[in-house]
Amino acid sequence: MIRKLIQRVFRLGRTEPEVFPLESHGIRRENISYGSRKVCEILQANGFHAYVVGGAVRDLMLGVVPKDFDVATDANPEDVHRLVRRSRLIGRRFKLVHALFGDEIVEVSTFRASAPGEVDEETGRVLRDNVYGDRVQDAARRDFTMNALYYDPATQTVLDYHRGVRDLQRKVIRIIGDPRARFREDPVRMLRAVRLGAKLGFTIDPKTRAPIKELADLMGNVPPARLFDEMLKLLLSGHASACVQRLRADGLHHGLLPLLDVILEQPLGEKFVNLALAQTDERVRLDKPVSPAFLFAALLWHEVLAAWKAREDAGENRIPALYAAMDEVLDKQTDKLAIPRRFTTTMKEIWALQPRLDSRSGRRPYGLLEHPRFRAAYDFLALRAESGEAPGELAEWWRRFQEATPEERAELLLPARAGGEKRRRRRRPRGNGPGPQDAGPPPVLAD
Ligand code: ATP
Ligand code: MG
Repeated sequence: MIRKLIQRVFRLGRTEPEVFPLESHGIRRENISYGSRKVCEILQANGFHAYVVGGAVRDLMLGVVPKDFDVATDANPEDVHRLVRRSRLIGRRFKLVHALFGDEIVEVSTFRASAPGEVDEETGRVLRDNVYGDRVQDAARRDFTMNALYYDPATQTVLDYHRGVRDLQRKVIRIIGDPRARFREDPVRMLRAVRLGAKLGFTIDPKTRAPIKELADLMGNVPPARLFDEMLKLLLSGHASACVQRLRADGLHHGLLPLLDVILEQPLGEKFVNLALAQTDERVRLDKPVSPAFLFAALLWHEVLAAWKAREDAGENRIPALYAAMDEVLDKQTDKLAIPRRFTTTMKEIWALQPRLDSRSGRRPYGLLEHPRFRAAYDFLALRAESGEAPGELAEWWRRFQEATPEERAELLLPARAGGEKRRRRRRPRGNGPGPQDAGPPPVLAD
């Protein structure tokens, strides 16, 4: 008992890693990517240390295919850049090297230390993170024990400073150091804990998890662009549904994810969001392309619907009210979450096409088929129908219309101003912006 305790204390303070040989983990150098192997070889041949680190080692130990391979080294970025022929220096604040091998990009970072003097006194957030350090310091500044494993392709050993191998075996996510302090340094770690938990089916260690609820508000201090990147990682991980369920179950959806915060409160919206997430997960798993714009459009749709209704109830005309509602919702979100313009443009197109898909007579359906966003808009309608918010019969009609021959299409068309179409308001809206194509004469799709 006492011996164990002494061993433990010794381990906590030690600077020597536990070394796991090939027989214990089974990761052969052939299992790592060509690029990361090459980078390590080059650096080691020049007298530097170089290891595959982070998620790749963790995933390989679990039998999961890694997304990408990162290398950590004691060589500084300029040396790496000089030694690796096809490479580029990136980052201004913290320099990294991207080494290019065919399609593969290996991110090579120099060992870093967390610098105590660089923390914002009030929030505890790390302001600068660009102090070089040694391997021990590099391991200590990483987020979770399972992410602080160093694989040396030359010896095929894994170096473990924080008992990450044990936590991997126990399927536990444990932060390195004091949870509160580490989350204050970088609140994004809270989101990462949940995301990795859902991805790997791990539980978050109770001590790591305990302060999350209370500190969730700190996510508000994270620069919106970074938050957006993290959101995207979470949503496109192939485990988005599981992530969101966990966030909800843990009561962490407040504050941690600004986008989901509001949406998950609406009963109708929740079903729609869940369907959109499940569909996205499925596509990621099947290696099909997913459109972040489509997903974000789905996540915010019920917000748009609510704002739209409020405006119509206040007497605004239908289509201008929709456009104003879209801007209102996006303005509110971009404050916290910098959704890039290339996405918001597509999101707006998808939303704006929804009322236009009500048209099933005259030339309009033909014009809509030609619209560059038709397919996305139709998929969106199908999702709305599945969630019960749009008529199933309307989505079904569009499905048939797309697949039909010219003769069949003519037969499918409804008589002008008949069933299925909502009664249009007669007043032409004022207001500027792209206008109510619904109210004008065909051909449509001027935008
Ligand atoms: P994924 O499977 O999503 O790629 P990952 O753990 O590899 O998971 P990355 O964002 O690729 O995540 O980060 C690589 C490594 O960098 C991590 O394994 C971890 O060691 C370290 N790291 C990343 N983000 C943080 C952070 N916010 N704080 C401390 N260390 C971090
Ligand atoms: Mg990674």
